Amino acid sequence: MTIKKITDNTVEQTCDACGHVRSCSLDELTVGVVNEGRINAGVIPFPCCDNCGSVEYVIPSKEDTVDHPSTGSFGHRHAILVDILHERLVERGRVARGIEPAKLKKRKRTKEEIDRWFKDGLELAPLSDESHKGEDAETRPQQ
Ligand SMILES: [Zn+2]
Repeated sequence: MTIKKITDNTVEQTCDACGHVRSCSLDELTVGVVNEGRINAGVIPFPCCDNCGSVEYVIPSKEDTVDHPSTGSFGHRHAILVDILHERLVERGRVARGIEPAKLKKRKRTKEEIDRWFKDGLELAPLSDESHKGEDAETRPQQ
């Protein structure tokens, strides 16, 4: 699942399964999943896709996550958006029952970092060539 854009009250996402784009209110989302008494505080589930029914979620960075290997790439900037979304949901108290917000140790993005990559707003440009996975030139044998 890909987050395209975050506004004050909504998040715009693209369904990976069918490509459907929709907007969710932040009030529809919670941090964490409680399933048969087990708590997984490390994910943010989204309501199922209203087009194909897929259930998707995003995973915020851990507090000690090292920077994405390719800063400025789609993956790096998407990780920042997910972390911003996580912080906003926690600020609003949108946390699943049974989870203590104070114990959610996730990576905080600094204003400088956000301003650097999102100076025109919290929005990701469409996927470009850099989205290819595992095709880095460094992995090819050198002659
Ligand atoms: Zn879908």
